[in-house]
Amino acid sequence: MSSAFTYDVAIVGGGLAGLTTSIQLANAGWKVVLFEKESYPFHRVCGEYISLESRAFLRGLGIDDEALDLPIIDQLQVSAPNGKLLEQRLPLGGMGISRYRLDQLLAEIATKAGVLMMDHTRVNEAIFEKDGFTLHTPEGNYRSRIAVGSFGKRSNLDVKMNREFIRQKASGLNNFIGIKYHIRYAHARDTIVLHNFSDGYCGMSAIENGLSCLCYLTTAANLERSGKSIPRMEQEILSQNPHLERIFRDADFVFREPVAISQISFAQKSLIENHILMAGDAAGMITPLCGNGMSMGMHAGKIMTGKIDAFLSGKISREEMEQSYQQVWTSAFSGRLRTGRMIQRMFGKPMMTNLFISAMKPFPRAVNWLVKQTHGAEF
Ligand SMILES: Cc1cc2nc3c(=O)[nH]c(=O)nc-3n(C[C@H](O)[C@H](O)[C@H](O)COP(=O)(O)OP(=O)(O)OC[C@H]3O[C@@H](n4cnc5c(N)ncnc54)[C@H](O)[C@@H]3O)c2cc1C
Repeated sequence: MSSAFTYDVAIVGGGLAGLTTSIQLANAGWKVVLFEKESYPFHRVCGEYISLESRAFLRGLGIDDEALDLPIIDQLQVSAPNGKLLEQRLPLGGMGISRYRLDQLLAEIATKAGVLMMDHTRVNEAIFEKDGFTLHTPEGNYRSRIAVGSFGKRSNLDVKMNREFIRQKASGLNNFIGIKYHIRYAHARDTIVLHNFSDGYCGMSAIENGLSCLCYLTTAANLERSGKSIPRMEQEILSQNPHLERIFRDADFVFREPVAISQISFAQKSLIENHILMAGDAAGMITPLCGNGMSMGMHAGKIMTGKIDAFLSGKISREEMEQSYQQVWTSAFSGRLRTGRMIQRMFGKPMMTNLFISAMKPFPRAVNWLVKQTHGAEF
């Protein structure tokens, strides 16, 4: 490492993409600092269903899923707004764990691996000049050769950099809200359900300790229509689907106030901005309907780690690192993102979803094909 830089790599954002990348780089011998604006452990909006494509990877980092006794989920149920159900075995399946628990475990592993964990620290600016970065935080400035952007769906840095998706006008793909609860509710723990309602869908699947995650995505317009009241929206709009009506009526809610996020965009994003390498949702967000954003974020971090390692070892130039990351990322994910956006556009419109569910019911192979398009292979 050149003496001008205190760190080889600075990672901005400690979700799954940032945490897993930090561990891999530290294990490879690089000096890593990770900034996370929140303090671990904390809840965040996520369906908490992790596709099994990342199980071996997580085990490799030190997550002992067997000891955690996590529910394995291999069945899917989708309901149309009118309540009609489609059932399907999941080709690969997933496991359930809260982000509160998983992110905390990974943060502990990162600390043990030697990553300097700066939680409760927001990065306000990342400036590239003369082969390295200066990151501005309230705790002072940090210098690193590489900066990784794993700051999620929408961050102050997106605004600061005036990224293209921030400049876009509101459209069908860029103004969603996400809401999450943990609940106690009797349902099949091997099944993830996806209940559609007007302009949105709500997933429920098992996590640790006998709990389930109930998480939905809908348009900001739906909340406006309900006088900006979440309980009213759940009663008047979501509960038109009879399955959701039962859940909201009978479930025991562990925290009454939901975790919520707004201004979610599924627009395309640039992979590299001011030489910052983006991973996870900062690079392009897969729709929750595909249940796979976490795996995609971790997989992107794994690809990125190989490229950063080659650059820091002097095997490739910065330009080669950036080009090669872009190439491999595009071939790994652009098809999945396209399918995700296509499905996202199709769902939520009650007539279309009702029709789609009825039409697909007799064709399990077609449903299986569609589900497969949104899932990746083990990495
Ligand atoms: C409603 C909904 C349901 C979903 N359900 C699923 C699911 O069931 N399965 C699945 O695989 N995926 C799901 N996803 C997608 C999944 O949650 C994301 O793809 C995944 O969390 C992305 O991880 P990440 O590391 O890129 O970002 P995040 O996990 O969002 O982490 C980004 C971090 O960056 C931090 N940050 C931002 N700006 C700064 C800054 N300036 N300085 C310091 N820190 C900063 C944030 O605090 C945050 O902790 C869902 C998404 C939504 C919206």
